[in-house]
Amino acid sequence: MRIDVLSLFPDMFSGVFGQSILKKAQEKNALEISVLDFRQFSTNKHRNVDDYPYGGGAGMVLTPQPLFDAVDTLTKDTSIKPRIILLCPQGDRFDQKKAEELAQEEHLIFLCGHYEGYDERVREYLVTDEISIGDYVLTGGELGAMVVIDAVSRLLPGVLGKEESHLQDSFSTGILEHPHYTRPADFRGMKVPDVLLSGNHKNIENWRKKESLKRTFERRPDLLEKIKLSADEEKMLKEIKEHKTT
Ligand code: SAM
Repeated sequence: MRIDVLSLFPDMFSGVFGQSILKKAQEKNALEISVLDFRQFSTNKHRNVDDYPYGGGAGMVLTPQPLFDAVDTLTKDTSIKPRIILLCPQGDRFDQKKAEELAQEEHLIFLCGHYEGYDERVREYLVTDEISIGDYVLTGGELGAMVVIDAVSRLLPGVLGKEESHLQDSFSTGILEHPHYTRPADFRGMKVPDVLLSGNHKNIENWRKKESLKRTFERRPDLLEKIKLSADEEKMLKEIKEHKTT
């Protein structure tokens, strides 16, 4: 996958993209990321990228020209149609389903806003997706782009090792993941559940499934309404609910 990020503050990305799994993903060529300062595409003689809003009011608005030209440059020598993603608090709320959808693409371009936001024509005529990372307002789209890129990258083939597989993660299965424990089995009197030390794989699998359902029921019951449970899972959930009310 190729990822291009258009930002006025490219240095913000070096820490996140230059370490850990994202760094390794680029070294393994599973992912190629470049971050461009779109100020360099401004045809304004002072390289301005923002201007006062028509109609007056507070804040500066990013002008369309540098962003349209930057996207034209990034797409001119390729037949691959990229997804052009605007980070925006008014966009669709980002979730695992969207991460999985974007992970199927070959080329993603992220536009990071700043100041009061963008000229509306960027939204209307340039982008394919508008993504919000939550119902709050950030100073810029950079942190949002990092969140989305991190979540998408770990789904790409070859990025996570077998031992770090994402398939059991919360949301990938539709529900929250079960709890994890590691050594020691007794830490300051706080004990690991016996079943995990039993070596009985069937019992461990059942315990994990039930804990997953229990967590989801307690913390995110809305997720249970969106998925189809197997007969065994329905039975476990019934037990969890009965236990809760007794
Ligand atoms: N005036 C805009 C509004 O009310 O919708 C907010 C602009 S915000 C200060 C500046 C930039 O930060 C936005 O253009 C966007 O790129 C980014 N941003 C802010 N909050 C965000 C969020 N929740 N998700 C994604 N991007 C966000």
